[in-house]
Amino acid sequence: RAGMRKELPEHFRDYRNVWVFIELERGQVHPVSWELMGEGRKLADRLGVQLAAVVLGPKDEGTRTAIRQTWAYGADICYICKDAVLTDYRNEPYTQALTGLVNAYKPEILLLGATTLGRDLAGSVATTLKTGLTADATELAIDDEMSLAATRPTFGGTLLCTIHTLNFRPQMATVRPRVMAMPHPDMTRPAGRSVWYTLGVAEADVITKVLEFVADATTNEVNLAYADIVVAGGMGLQNAANFRLVRDLAAVLGGEYGCSRPVVQKGWLPAERQIGQTGKTIRPRLYIAAGISGAIQHRVGVEGADLIIAINTDPQARIFDFAHLGVVADALQILPALTEAFARR
Ligand code: FAD
Repeated sequence: RAGMRKELPEHFRDYRNVWVFIELERGQVHPVSWELMGEGRKLADRLGVQLAAVVLGPKDEGTRTAIRQTWAYGADICYICKDAVLTDYRNEPYTQALTGLVNAYKPEILLLGATTLGRDLAGSVATTLKTGLTADATELAIDDEMSLAATRPTFGGTLLCTIHTLNFRPQMATVRPRVMAMPHPDMTRPAGRSVWYTLGVAEADVITKVLEFVADATTNEVNLAYADIVVAGGMGLQNAANFRLVRDLAAVLGGEYGCSRPVVQKGWLPAERQIGQTGKTIRPRLYIAAGISGAIQHRVGVEGADLIIAINTDPQARIFDFAHLGVVADALQILPALTEAFARR
């Protein structure tokens, strides 16, 4: 399809390939990076270009492992910058490394996860490069002009808008974890081309210093987004105390628990438990929604689940439009009955 490309401005022709920023923190790659490699492969194939991974990190085993994994997840090229100043994420050296690589090797599309780190980095990289950024995309495609078309919710989730980045390069987007499917790695895939980049930033030049890491015991980002089984409750549960029923069923099933937004607004559960457009996107094998009406803002966060079971007293509730199984009943009775039944098994 590359031959079908419309005439682009002269300097755009230097920009080629699809890049995915591999988010590596404390030796671990965030799974959203691999989800983006899967999506990046589709975009690269459509454009007839190569897929590249960008790995920034210290000279340690975690970085080496991340590089090896990029081949398994389909990278043709891996751009690597290993430097002690990249040990802990800090905006300044990471922005310099990524913008330096972009200026040197000119990707046409640059994708990052819409995580705390990815959002921070994408904003400063886009600003430094004076290019556009579509944040929190839920769908990526190549349009008829062969430009990136990134779709995201707008007007409070009531509309979906598709943003075409016609006049800027690279075309940048962030995508939330779990929005794209996780590809299967091929561990037998041979390594591609490694391109090494020298950063040239001295530690003394970096204003931000990491003094200590203190784990936040209350956050549960990875568990809820990547849980296989999720049980969630909505306003139908009536009060904070009744969320014990949701927690109990999740525990007996070995899953995680979550909720709709008004539950967080009421202060019944903390914000990291919220599922939906302004909360977590989930893709579990099983999602049980109890006392949740199924508003569009909730639906967009759960429709990637393999099996959705809804419990609601109202047979007209919108959740029954997209649930695979519906139970018209009082959640306050069904949840403990299910917990008891599963506990006996
Ligand atoms: P309700 O809509 O009040 O539904 C409660 C349901 O419980 C009803 O269907 C009722 O029939 C049922 N019920 C009552 N009693 C029982 C019982 N005993 N047993 C079983 N069922 C019972 N919402 C989210 O969830 N996530 C988001 O990320 C999110 N983001 C938003 C962003 C914006 C910009 C806006 C404007 C809204 C957002 N919302 C979000 C809110 C969303 O529009 C809905 O208001 C919300 O999802 C409704 O929550 P609910 O289903 O728990 O409550």
